[in-house]
Amino acid sequence: MRYLSTRGGMPARSFSEILLAGLADDGGLSICESYPQVSTQELSAWRDLSYPDLAFEIISRFATDIPAQDLREIINATYTAKKFGSEEITPLTWLDSDVAILGLSNGPTLAFKDIAMQFLGNLFEYILTKNNQQLNILGATSGDTGPSAEYAMLGKSHVRVFMLSPYQRMSPFQEAQMYSLDEDNIFNIAVEGSFDRAQDMVKGVSHDAEFKARYKVGTVNSINWARVTAQVVYYFKGYLAATQSNAQKVSFTVPSGNFGNIYAGHIARQMGLPIEKLVLATNENNVLDEFFRTGIYKVRSEENVYVTSSPSMDISKASNFERFIYDLVGRDPEIVGDLWHQVETKGFFDLSETEYFSKVKNYGFKSGSSTHHDRIETIRQIKNDYDLVIDTHTADGIKVAKEFIQENIPMICLETALPAKFEATVIEALGYKPDRPVSHNDIETKPKKYDVMLPSVDQIKTYMQERIKI
Ligand SMILES: *Cc1c(COP(=O)(O)O)cnc(C)c1O
Repeated sequence: MRYLSTRGGMPARSFSEILLAGLADDGGLSICESYPQVSTQELSAWRDLSYPDLAFEIISRFATDIPAQDLREIINATYTAKKFGSEEITPLTWLDSDVAILGLSNGPTLAFKDIAMQFLGNLFEYILTKNNQQLNILGATSGDTGPSAEYAMLGKSHVRVFMLSPYQRMSPFQEAQMYSLDEDNIFNIAVEGSFDRAQDMVKGVSHDAEFKARYKVGTVNSINWARVTAQVVYYFKGYLAATQSNAQKVSFTVPSGNFGNIYAGHIARQMGLPIEKLVLATNENNVLDEFFRTGIYKVRSEENVYVTSSPSMDISKASNFERFIYDLVGRDPEIVGDLWHQVETKGFFDLSETEYFSKVKNYGFKSGSSTHHDRIETIRQIKNDYDLVIDTHTADGIKVAKEFIQENIPMICLETALPAKFEATVIEALGYKPDRPVSHNDIETKPKKYDVMLPSVDQIKTYMQERIKI
């Protein structure tokens, strides 16, 4: 399998070659040349596979330059009952005969990002060890991606993580998840300022190509292709768990921010998985819902992003969206380049009057959004009707899913986090604290290790230089 850029300016590369890179050289996103096809016979044969075996079947079609035996070992080491709480890894729970929840949040940091990030950690270590390289991951987090990246890179000898977070602006739980890690390769930096200031520091460093090359600085953000690939697996797993035969179809609802998760669903559908609808759910930051309803993609400035009770979906623009648009416009990199030029110069593009927008329905996409009030109501209702406590992001999905349920087509709602991560809103809805997995009991009382820093690009560079031996 070869990889191209959505903007057309990158020579074809292999999976391993794009693994450690961020954006393609031309500013686009890397994408597979074509989607591998899964026949109905293969799909039937996959019905009895364990999660790791299924993951191998799918990921091996994308990571074709990694020796099969090595890939199998990496996958087997990643998807264990010990790490994810059960052999199923992503258990399916039926609410009633046509609505189910796919549990994606039983990994170490209680959010779905672990499923891809744990794989990425093991894959990075494998490639870096093989090539005798090191990687210094620099990232900024408002509270969710940071823990997932740190837990994925724990104890990896070729990787260091420098994670910037807004000082005293995260929940005590989120703070504890990161700051209680006492590992030589993990550096928590509490920035005196907002998340945006922390993000600016990362951008500042990434503009210094010389520094980046010299100190082997990389990222693990949601445009990473290997992360997307690992997410394709649970769409297959969810489908196979919900159906008895390939004649059946299912729909998925996906609480969305950067369009990484639902883009993996689009890939699964393009590979031949019988998906009827892919329902995209947003919160008040409804950039993507607006596109799927109107054909207009209009990004927000950072000041115009609402702070909501489903904070992991508070986005101003959706970084993976360009890959979907690439497909929508018939994989024409010139059109993609032109559309993103319009985003940069005017802040939006409008496909409403084009043949492309009418193709959205061929891809099965539907969308909707929720408000804080909707999420509170949904959390109450799911507790009432099914005695189940869900988090705010999952609530967002279930609220929107209800608008698109069709007879005889199971609707699978992706659970993207456990309620323990977003206690305050759950208390608002139900009047009490949600249960915590035992692994997270008392985590706030553990000793904390972090350094406080002013929002300065020079300071973070000096900090990294002092800790990276080259
Ligand atoms: C990251 C995240 C999302 C959004 O996923 P995307 O892949 O960015 O669309 C939704 N819910 C939770 C809990 C998340 O952490």
